[in-house]
Amino acid sequence: MIALIQAGGAGTRLKSITGDSLPKPMVLINGKPILEHQIDSLKASDVKDIVIVISKNGGPIENYFGDGTKFGVRISYIKEEEPLGTAGALSLFKKRFNEDFILLFGDLMLDIDFTRFVAFHKEKKAMISAFAHPNSHPFDSDLLLSDSDDRITGVDSKHNVRDYYYENLVNAGVYVVSKEVLSSVPSPIKMDFEKDVLSLYVKKGEAYAYRSSEYVKDCGTPERYLSVNEDSKNGIVSMKNLRNKQRCIFLDRDGTINKFGDFVTSSDKLFLNPDAAKAIKLINESSYIAICVTNQPVVARGETTFEELKNIHNKMEDLLGKEGAYLNDLFFCPHHPDKGFPGEVKELKIDCDCRKPKIGMLLKAQKRYNIDFSKSWMIGDTKQDVQTGINAGCQTVLLTCGDPHPEKKFKEAQETFTSSSLYDAISTILNAK
Ligand SMILES: [Zn+2]
Repeated sequence: MIALIQAGGAGTRLKSITGDSLPKPMVLINGKPILEHQIDSLKASDVKDIVIVISKNGGPIENYFGDGTKFGVRISYIKEEEPLGTAGALSLFKKRFNEDFILLFGDLMLDIDFTRFVAFHKEKKAMISAFAHPNSHPFDSDLLLSDSDDRITGVDSKHNVRDYYYENLVNAGVYVVSKEVLSSVPSPIKMDFEKDVLSLYVKKGEAYAYRSSEYVKDCGTPERYLSVNEDSKNGIVSMKNLRNKQRCIFLDRDGTINKFGDFVTSSDKLFLNPDAAKAIKLINESSYIAICVTNQPVVARGETTFEELKNIHNKMEDLLGKEGAYLNDLFFCPHHPDKGFPGEVKELKIDCDCRKPKIGMLLKAQKRYNIDFSKSWMIGDTKQDVQTGINAGCQTVLLTCGDPHPEKKFKEAQETFTSSSLYDAISTILNAK
């Protein structure tokens, strides 16, 4: 596998840190240029052929990395005489290589298990796979729209007015690209990868979103630079590489994130608990990942549809996002075991493997995010959640601020501790590590 790194951008906003002459990819994070962090991450996934696109100001990059020998990789350069946007250089790349490749931008601090990413690309038979993740500011980010098979169905520009509830799924700017895509960049003219290339394959239905909780952040402003630097020093950047076992805080939905009340059968019935965003933000800033696991038998009972449930979850993500918080993922069980009610959806009336306290949803999450249950937590407002956590081998918190009858079922289940607020529960977990 080859990687193509676009390192030609100017990076004017970082002048206060880089001085006038240093290209942005050479900005030091925790004592090393961003570009070197990228190369280390590629090398760890056995990607050792690297092509760097540089501008006419790219001298310091070439001087530092040379042919890559010192860094254990092979590096060559494409020099742009004129800026060719984020895609124009692909036409020059095509002349030299004829295989699938990883495309990334030199101003992103990242640590990714590329082996996992490439495996996803192959499994989906995608033409382009985009690394996708939620972020703390979806309201001013370009969003990816995707279907339940992870196919990208559209890109919603941050400049559009959004009068709908949206999923917090942002294009990070890291791609796996099939060689056939190179034919859409015929000559070295200025082109934008997202607008001119990705959009083409989205229309064809051949672009996919690869969801990951790994660390990818742009350090394009002095504030972001400082926080990324901090994360690197604290080991959070490398810890989140999915090659490493992850620690997760699993969260129940009703009564834990949103207010306990009637069944939420439409988005107008969902309201966040007042401390939910503040609490989940604590997880986002830690080394844990945040995943919601929720039983939604309302689907099996015919009281809501998959489509409306998606809308309900988009509202939840949307509200959390407005306060700077996000879930890394959400799994739901639409089933219910008891048959024989009017309006029910017969094929969902089954004794499934995912309805809590069974751990099907947690196992799915474990597979996708390489989770170590023994270092993870399950937080919910019923003993059913506690039993779920115990069944998976997690530690557990019973919240006393949700369901007024938490002991209806599985009352023998013994939680690790109880708490009267999600915020306090998460603070306690994070402070105990
Ligand atoms: Zn189920």
